[in-house]
Amino acid sequence: MTSRDLPFCPRCGKLLTPSREGGELKLVCRVCGFTSDASSMPVEVKVTQHIAHSPQERTTVIDTSTSKTMPTIRASCPKCGHNEAYWWLLQTRRADEGSTRFYRCVKCGFTWREYD
Ligand SMILES: [Zn+2]
Ligand SMILES: [Zn+2]
Repeated sequence: MTSRDLPFCPRCGKLLTPSREGGELKLVCRVCGFTSDASSMPVEVKVTQHIAHSPQERTTVIDTSTSKTMPTIRASCPKCGHNEAYWWLLQTRRADEGSTRFYRCVKCGFTWREYD
């Protein structure tokens, strides 16, 4: 028996029971009365997490797993007012543009930048 044979009620999460109604196979929840066509079984429903990044965000997003090893500095978070932030430098492609310093609040994770 595969998971396809074990549909669960999308309303209450209980096991649905196959039931023939008027020649059609339905899936019925005996708890809340939910009825589904066998062709639209809730096992097809998948929870997908779509994480959208705007082009600006993509440049500043860092892997949070590396944050533990990053240096911290006294800096005031514009969002929550916390006075400690991780910081790192990001060298831009053109050398004459210098580097951009990024801060990331250790408390709320807000990230902002500052130009040298
Ligand atoms: Zn139910
Ligand atoms: Zn903050």
